[in-house]
Amino acid sequence: MGTEDPNRPNYTIRPAATPFAALQSTTPFLSSGPVVRSEASAFRSAPPASSHSTIPPFSSGPFVASESPAFRPPPPGRSNELIGPPLPSSSPYGPPTAGFQRFPTPPPSTGQLPPPRASLVGGPVVPPPTISSGGPVSLISQHQHPSIPMGSPPQSIKTGQSNPNILPPADQPFSLPRPNVQPSSPPMRPSYATARGTVQPSFPAHANTQMNYVAQAPPVQPGSFQLQQGGYAPAAPPTSFLAQQRGHMPAPSTTPSGLHFGSQMQHHGVAPPIATSQSLAEDFSSLSVGSVPGSFDTGLDAASLPRPLDGDVEPKSLAEMYPMNCSSRFLRLTTSAIPSSQSLASRWHLHLGAVVCPLAESPAGEEVPIVNFSTTGIVRCRRCRTYVNPYVTFTDNGRKWKCNICSSLNDVPSDYFAPVDASGRRVDLDQRPELTKGSVDFIAPAEYMVRPPMPPLFFFLIDVSISAVKSGMLEVMAQTIKSCLDSLTPRTQIGFITYDSTIHFYNMKSSLMQPQMMVVSDLDAIFLPLPDDLLVNLSESRNVVDAFLDSLPSMFQENMNVESAFGPALQAAFMVMSQLGGKLLIFQNTLPSLGVGRLRLRGDDIRLYGTDKEHTIRVPEDPFYKRMAADFTKYQMAVNVYAFSDKYTDIASLGTLAKYTGGQVYYYPSFHSGIHKDKFRHELARDLTRETAWESVMRIRCGKGVRFTSYHGNFMLRSTDLLALPAVDCDKAYAAQLSLEETLLTTQTVYFQVALLYTSSSGERRIRVHTAAAPVVANLGEMYRLADTGAIISLFSRLAIEKTLSYKLEDARSAVQLRIVKALREYRNLYSVQHRLSGRMIYPESLKFLPLYGLALCKSIPLRGGYADAQLDERCAAGYTMMALPVKKLLKLLYPSLVRVDDSLVNNSLQTDHFDGIAKRLPLTAESLDTRGLYVFDDGFRFVIWFGRSISPDIARNLLGEDFAADYSKVSLAEGENEMSGKLMKMINKFRETDPSYFQLCHVVRQGEQPREGFFLLTNLVEDQTGGANGYADWILQLSRQAQQIA
Ligand SMILES: [Zn+2]
Repeated sequence: MGTEDPNRPNYTIRPAATPFAALQSTTPFLSSGPVVRSEASAFRSAPPASSHSTIPPFSSGPFVASESPAFRPPPPGRSNELIGPPLPSSSPYGPPTAGFQRFPTPPPSTGQLPPPRASLVGGPVVPPPTISSGGPVSLISQHQHPSIPMGSPPQSIKTGQSNPNILPPADQPFSLPRPNVQPSSPPMRPSYATARGTVQPSFPAHANTQMNYVAQAPPVQPGSFQLQQGGYAPAAPPTSFLAQQRGHMPAPSTTPSGLHFGSQMQHHGVAPPIATSQSLAEDFSSLSVGSVPGSFDTGLDAASLPRPLDGDVEPKSLAEMYPMNCSSRFLRLTTSAIPSSQSLASRWHLHLGAVVCPLAESPAGEEVPIVNFSTTGIVRCRRCRTYVNPYVTFTDNGRKWKCNICSSLNDVPSDYFAPVDASGRRVDLDQRPELTKGSVDFIAPAEYMVRPPMPPLFFFLIDVSISAVKSGMLEVMAQTIKSCLDSLTPRTQIGFITYDSTIHFYNMKSSLMQPQMMVVSDLDAIFLPLPDDLLVNLSESRNVVDAFLDSLPSMFQENMNVESAFGPALQAAFMVMSQLGGKLLIFQNTLPSLGVGRLRLRGDDIRLYGTDKEHTIRVPEDPFYKRMAADFTKYQMAVNVYAFSDKYTDIASLGTLAKYTGGQVYYYPSFHSGIHKDKFRHELARDLTRETAWESVMRIRCGKGVRFTSYHGNFMLRSTDLLALPAVDCDKAYAAQLSLEETLLTTQTVYFQVALLYTSSSGERRIRVHTAAAPVVANLGEMYRLADTGAIISLFSRLAIEKTLSYKLEDARSAVQLRIVKALREYRNLYSVQHRLSGRMIYPESLKFLPLYGLALCKSIPLRGGYADAQLDERCAAGYTMMALPVKKLLKLLYPSLVRVDDSLVNNSLQTDHFDGIAKRLPLTAESLDTRGLYVFDDGFRFVIWFGRSISPDIARNLLGEDFAADYSKVSLAEGENEMSGKLMKMINKFRETDPSYFQLCHVVRQGEQPREGFFLLTNLVEDQTGGANGYADWILQLSRQAQQIA
């Protein structure tokens, strides 16, 4: 078979189990020419000649143009946020390189006959490609490029002759010696020296610890992709304090009741201290923590401690001051009061920064308006490239506009001219959303593209080894994907690779009745057995795709293969997708065991905890994963990792792929379709159908004197301030730290502008722009008053999780605690002396939940305890997840809701349709649980349904059926015949609707049932003392005591 051409692979028959049984009478490699079709041809049917360029997608220039001259200096009036692969000289979508497409000769395997390189499954021996209408032969001759060995595609691709200003040498970002592959860590080490050796057990206070983080400089060269994820800002050097007073928020003049000693605690929205002469707007709350510091017998009333029982309450102050600001859904600042001086900033102690969720879902009626400037071109500042926004001002009778960010005066394009009235308002303001709304989507003209907008693209990389089949994962996955196909736009491109110990490609050509499978077994030299049709237009090949998904589960039903050639399969997916980019969804059930990227069963090691090597188990050991992630990002590919194993799968390594590509990690430990089906189905469907922004980049501009210095989340930096986001959606948020560049700010307002350049699923190139203004203040009290705990915690969490990748868990927790203590101490110093507040903990009203969220963060899965307190994979998965969460979602995860529902179930008068008001959230402590009650604990990711020991047997029987006394681990909550059961399911669905980003699976737990009760609920009651960690009251006492120590 296939012996005519030694360069051609041999094809063998895969065992007959496959449902893709009979081959067509046609040969599989019928056509080598472009397939003519409307959409796809625009992307795929380039003349073969263009493939002679060695590095097609990047050979002709930078992948993304940016403001950096090294990238692509934008001509005046042009975009500086161009993005996309550069156009190959002949066609923007020319076929892949010769390296991709050549059919190599398999190297002889040791001591054996050469193994079959590729096999077509299920049919007779396949005629070699040459037999069929000259296809592969001509392909080989056309695409052959003698100088490129087939052996190691990604490497040979990367090391190609791309623009040296753009692409780093292949291994550049990964040249750090192992195990310190975490790019953000090495330069930091010295600055942390003092943080070591001074730790105390359980959330110790590092009152003496230096916390001056230094900027993390990843080992990159100019223009190279930076694997930057950390980046703690250097502490601002102390400078003279600016006595600038800005009274934009007059201080109320009432006496704060919080100052009355004896009352346990008060907090009020606006409450300045007793008649002081200062013009500070002071509102603080206080908490009696005993008059004798050090005493535990304080009479601290735990019930009166502040709790976020209403969830995330966003500060309204900024929106009231600046009504034209974008919604806080999109942008939140850690404090809306920007310090006027570096010295003031340094006294803030919390992080200065922002959290951005550029595609946050808008409620009906508040959709982001779309603005099309068409021939005018998008109006932008010619100096700083700011987009026209509500804060620009028009002068010279409407002929000029002044940029709010850099103050430059720009000409108004003649098409855009409108006269201004006496107050300086343009007369056409009503028709100009970009001049009245803080958020708009601009339609981007051609100069914002370096290639036609890409189609949505989903590529699936599917583990079909025995555990994937046995767990039911494969079946649920195939069904779910199929059920979503109707929701995808007809432009969508789709493709599949499956793998176990070999890699299976599928020809999805639209003219086929059934997909054809080709097996590649040489893992050392991955190649594509087919130049086209591994990736197809969904609507054209819909029948083939349906047939594939229908037969996939049964096809591997008998598969006993336990191996996983994940790395080679990943390389193969890269080769298929690299022309277009898109989303790669990986379904992985086992530890990668074969080929490049195979992982060791290094697992969790108790001996590492507490040592300097502790963090190494939380970062990838093999640089392969970061290298692949960098390549994926470069070629506009985002990776989502779905992991299902009941054993260690090294999520630390696998998750890296998602982390640096703007992706997401979904983790279903010990997946079993009987239990996890609904969750997996919902989350995969959401992943496929939520509005996605493709081939995106994001930049946040801000006014003179301030600068974003570091970014935190799942992405890769493309230049110092350009975030590469191959795919973005409403479930992704990014945090950034802000610092003052100048000693003093002379402006009264600082403006921020987020610009996300992306391709919509409908194929439109757009720029989403969010603009916000914030006041500059000269006093610290104002900074605290306008603080946003949600934004602070979001930034905190990301920094703390990053820190666990370079340091001990304990160090990360200590850093959180120290920040809070320092902030409380500084705040206290503002007021305590004059008000003689010793024995009381005082804090700004705006930060009243900060200590509790800080405690919850320290107890969250990525940071909690030590060796036994969370499984390593679970810890890593939670870390990757939390790095991407929007503020509300994160706060709910940290401080979940706990509601009692049995009363509502038995009380017939209550309408479950109006359940919202009934669900009163309870403090997260075991004391909230009544043994006769039924409770729902909801952290946004799962529900725990807790049955009290003395719950009425009626309720238990109604909800659980006659099994109600049985082992609850085997009980699943399903809607029964009775009304009560229906009511509970309605409630649960209602809870789910409020937060559709993940599916909350119900875990039924009975009081006293260990270890399940402990695992699911008790360890998550963050106010209680668990393990060695503080309870809420003790935590407050500890913080208070430390805050009162002299710094
Ligand atoms: Zn400007």
